[in-house]
Amino acid sequence: MSKIFNFCAGPAMLPEAVMQQAQSEFCNWQGSGVSVMEVSHRSPEYIALAKQAEMDLRELLSVPDNYKVLFCQGGGRGQFAAVPLNLLGDKLDADYILTGQWSKSAVVEAKKHARIKETDIMTTTADGKIAVKPCDEWSMNSEAAYLHYCPNETIEGIEIFDVPATGDVPLVADMSSTILSRPLDISKFGLIYAGAQKNIGPSGLAIVIVREDLVGKARQAIPSIFDYEIQANADSMYNTPPTYSWYLAGLVFKWLLAQGGIVEVEKKNIAKAELLYNAIDASSFYSNNVDKSVRSRMNIPFTLADDSLNETFLSESKAAGLLTLKGHKLVGGMRASIYNAMPIEGVQALVDFMAEFEKRYA
Ligand code: PMP
Repeated sequence: MSKIFNFCAGPAMLPEAVMQQAQSEFCNWQGSGVSVMEVSHRSPEYIALAKQAEMDLRELLSVPDNYKVLFCQGGGRGQFAAVPLNLLGDKLDADYILTGQWSKSAVVEAKKHARIKETDIMTTTADGKIAVKPCDEWSMNSEAAYLHYCPNETIEGIEIFDVPATGDVPLVADMSSTILSRPLDISKFGLIYAGAQKNIGPSGLAIVIVREDLVGKARQAIPSIFDYEIQANADSMYNTPPTYSWYLAGLVFKWLLAQGGIVEVEKKNIAKAELLYNAIDASSFYSNNVDKSVRSRMNIPFTLADDSLNETFLSESKAAGLLTLKGHKLVGGMRASIYNAMPIEGVQALVDFMAEFEKRYA
């Protein structure tokens, strides 16, 4: 059987080298005779693992010293609630920028706790493509406790590369599907968060990177496990963390460092995305409806000229070892998620399959 490539949006494929290492020490971690998932999170061995993972993540993203790195639970959606509960302090207002389904879902949760000003920045270009207004045209409330946006909309395949300047208002970003794919200047953000199951590791973990002065303002009624101050003081072990996910995230961080860090990883991501977008743009059979300025490097939706071929495309691509290409139900068509772990060979295999499919069915 030829190689399998998994294009799932999340849980997404993990690097093969990481999976092999995890397999090799699955039952006998560091010669202990037990699996890492059977070890106490309070043991010196596990605490060393956890600290190393944090140090490696800090190195990868050049996290400044005045930021806390938290390993939380509850995924991305957990943070939809945790962000307002932690950051509002005595304010009532927060700004939310809308660019697609995930930023809209964040608003639904935040409205339970705050007075939200929603700003829809989506536009359509003259040639009918989806675009977003540049950051300096976003309407902002200088009284807001924070401004929240989603730099990569996983479902629509929209990515915002510029970082908005919000003055004294802390900038909060849901980086679930873009974290670790390109360098970031963390100092421009008050807080970023990401569910793990795309570029970090398996599901079960959410990473929060938060500036220290924003910690310690949580509402009294906040569940303790969501309180950044409590988690920071407990080194993210206020309750039992998802130890195996944390371990695998640590292996992924080492894998990224071994490639030369995020600058090198970004080059590969640019090459992979270009390969696929160029193939789509060169064809009159496939199309992507996002303007080039905001096309996601991680999630690439595309449609076929004839919708009635969708099922055939999906079954034939699956048979060719190209898995989970079905687009999100809200968008339809196809979606190829090509996170860090997807090798360029996987994208090449997809592009080759698409060309061959087009020849037979166009
Ligand atoms: N934000 C974004 C951008 C996402 O892509 C997702 C999940 N696909 C979420 C939030 C929700 O994450 P979770 O399922 O971990 O709650």
